[in-house]
Amino acid sequence: MSAPVLVVNSGSSSIKYQLVDGETLQASTSGLIERVGQSESILTHRHGDERTERTAHIADHAAGLEAVVAAFEEHGTPLADAGLIAVAHRVVHGGERFVQPVVVDDEVEAAIDRLSSLAPLHNPANLEGIRVARKLFPRLPQVAVFDTAFHATVPERAHLYAVPASWREDHGVRRYGFHGTSHAYVSRKAAEMLGRHPKEVNVIVAHLGNGASVTAVERGRSIDTSMGLTPLEGLVMGTRSGDIDPAIVFHMHRSTGASFADLDDALNKESGMLALAGQIDMRVVEAAAEGGDRAAQIALEIYCYRIRKYIGAYIAALGGADAIAFTAGIGENSAEVRAGALGSLTALGVRLDEAANAAGGPVISTPGSPITVMVVPTNEEGEIAAQTTALLRN
Ligand code: ADP
Repeated sequence: MSAPVLVVNSGSSSIKYQLVDGETLQASTSGLIERVGQSESILTHRHGDERTERTAHIADHAAGLEAVVAAFEEHGTPLADAGLIAVAHRVVHGGERFVQPVVVDDEVEAAIDRLSSLAPLHNPANLEGIRVARKLFPRLPQVAVFDTAFHATVPERAHLYAVPASWREDHGVRRYGFHGTSHAYVSRKAAEMLGRHPKEVNVIVAHLGNGASVTAVERGRSIDTSMGLTPLEGLVMGTRSGDIDPAIVFHMHRSTGASFADLDDALNKESGMLALAGQIDMRVVEAAAEGGDRAAQIALEIYCYRIRKYIGAYIAALGGADAIAFTAGIGENSAEVRAGALGSLTALGVRLDEAANAAGGPVISTPGSPITVMVVPTNEEGEIAAQTTALLRN
């Protein structure tokens, strides 16, 4: 490895990590700690073909990262001998300030903390990972890579909401967008697959995981994206509603007396496919729909219809697209969702090749299709490592 980076994605009760080469984007070791803070935490560690799993009580993120260091010592190369150039941290919200990766110091840490009001579910956990890693690896640069940064190029016409000026000026209310490392990586890969430079092509990326967003990428720059101030806006997701009339919140508050915290939870954690189909896992929803479950069938229709509307809107926003790329758990694996999302876009230049779609691509449109449709596996950790390497070498 010539630029080994330890990439850390620290959530409220989980820590994901990968040892990635920032030049080749290859990961040699990866792992996940689930249920941090609970009595039985699970650490899964993969080194090459070897996979180990153990259960232990991991009380907090500090104990979690120490367990990661120990796992590297037992399986693979100890981190102290890995020649690490940095520890890179995924940070969800960078606000208007962080439009590029940054080396973390005390002032950056405080700024990420202040942005927690915009991402209360994510930034505090990301920050906890940074604080712990700074103590554990005091000699290494800690780099923060932001989910919002790729969307810093979205122009005002797409990022401003038509709301009172003081909301925008004093409270940071605007569209920021998320999944930026994935949209950046996949749009570049899509251009590569077309045999063109990213600056020559317009690509629409549909990142469909538990969280989901669509981005319009014009000549390498994000010009619109479906998530907004927070990841709640846009597509129907596993547990998030995506776009709704905001007056629903006031209506439910008045009708039931539910607090704003309860409504926030309801829209972020109890909506989406969970609310429509009773299931988050798209494989289970698809199987239920196949078996005749009406709620699952309608949920799938709603899910795909929302994606289709965004793709149509972004073809218009871009003045025509060269490629549509599907990525993340659902985008990479569900031929049914891809077909459902693309149905009736024939008039806009999408000709799906059903056999290629069923086989998973990579190209799933017919050879003559004006818009090339493809399946592109995302690599968020690789992109984070690559951006970290580029930052430190500049
Ligand atoms: P996250 O946003 O948590 O990173 P992923 O990108 O891993 O999510 O995507 C998780 C989703 O991918 C789940 O809803 C899961 O059901 C879905 N998924 C994984 N494999 C398949 C498959 N073969 N068919 C349909 N959906 C799948």
